[in-house]
Amino acid sequence: MRKHNSSHISKFYTKTHKERLRIVQAFSQLDESDVQFLKTPSSIDFHTANRMIENVIGIMPLPLGIATNFLINNKNYLIPMAIEEPSVIAAASNAAKIARQSGGFVATSSNPIITGQIVLTNIKDILSAQENIETEKKQLLHLANQQDPIIVELGGGAKDIRTETVHTQRGTMLCVNLLVNVQDAMGANIINTMAEKIAPTLEKITGGTALLKIISNLPISKITTAQAIFKKDIIGKKTVEDILDAYAFAQSDIFRCTTHNKGIMNGIDAIAIATGNDFRAIEAGAHAFAALEGNYKPLTHYYKNEQGNLVGTIKLPITVGTVGGITQSHVIAKTAIKILQVNGASELSQVMASVGLAQNFAALYAMVTTGIQKGHMKLHKRKLILRQAQDEK
Ligand code: NAD
Repeated sequence: MRKHNSSHISKFYTKTHKERLRIVQAFSQLDESDVQFLKTPSSIDFHTANRMIENVIGIMPLPLGIATNFLINNKNYLIPMAIEEPSVIAAASNAAKIARQSGGFVATSSNPIITGQIVLTNIKDILSAQENIETEKKQLLHLANQQDPIIVELGGGAKDIRTETVHTQRGTMLCVNLLVNVQDAMGANIINTMAEKIAPTLEKITGGTALLKIISNLPISKITTAQAIFKKDIIGKKTVEDILDAYAFAQSDIFRCTTHNKGIMNGIDAIAIATGNDFRAIEAGAHAFAALEGNYKPLTHYYKNEQGNLVGTIKLPITVGTVGGITQSHVIAKTAIKILQVNGASELSQVMASVGLAQNFAALYAMVTTGIQKGHMKLHKRKLILRQAQDEK
């Protein structure tokens, strides 16, 4: 099959199911078996589901759609998104089409360093406890790394330990931060295992009690950014100004800002779900990051450049994996990662940040022009017709 190189696909929404599958198959070099999984309404059976969680009674399928037109760091992407809300995928594809006219998205991500917190209470001498931890740091890191030789082999693993005192209403506690390079995993299991393993040694050398041993879902060292230019010649000079006003309002009003950030997460969560990632962890991290400076703020930022074009940027922590969890064991998640053709978790987070920005731009654009309901209602009407047809069966 000839490889499809561009994600700029005209009128993808008018194609039949079979045609869409063929386009995606050619673009991402999917096997026939991947295509078969995509065609199967419930591609996991009861026994697989029953091994994943407790008390299983059924499967809850969601639609899996494809956002087109994305160009990120000069690479074309077709983006699988699992979501029940209409308009989200169309909006992302439209925004990506506009961004594409000025080179698409430029995205970056920092090292995948995630923190585990071991919280110690009942320490009599906190200063001595901190000194003892510093003295034993090498041994503690060694002990942590013994828990995951694979990740160490890959260049990751526990890299540092930093302590901080935290004053709480129930006394001063010592928080031992274990900094772990999780490579292409989301990292929660890796870190929780390491944290639980070193906790008894920490108790011994500090005289304290290890109360908590758990990953922090606010990974401020693992930040992903994306930027795109939306040309005034395409969106109109007035729209540039109106979007800047709408952005300014979100910066000053928490009620609007919450919805502003919700729109961003529409895109990010849909990719997280499609790829079998923990969207709750991503959500928690994103909203905490939005409030990091004390006030809850937009995760995106907009300004007008010298040419009068609108520049949009996004910055947030995204803990995501292309290995671990169900990313490689759930057939659809595995196929979604294949469709994306990402080379690891950092690249996946860059795709997610770009889609978050696209989603946010699309929502602002719709709101200051035609309104958000026009697109929404068209699709909503389709759903009502579908429901009527099902009722009549
Ligand atoms: P995991 O333990 O399933 O897999 C990670 C393992 O994969 C590593 O230990 C490593 O040995 C191996 N591996 C192979 N190739 C690798 C590579 N290239 N990069 C990194 N590791 C590689 O997964 P995880 O990412 O540690 O944990 C994710 C799961 O933990 C998710 O299902 C999440 O829902 C769950 N979880 C989350 C929280 C939380 O966020 N608070 C808490 C508990 C559990």
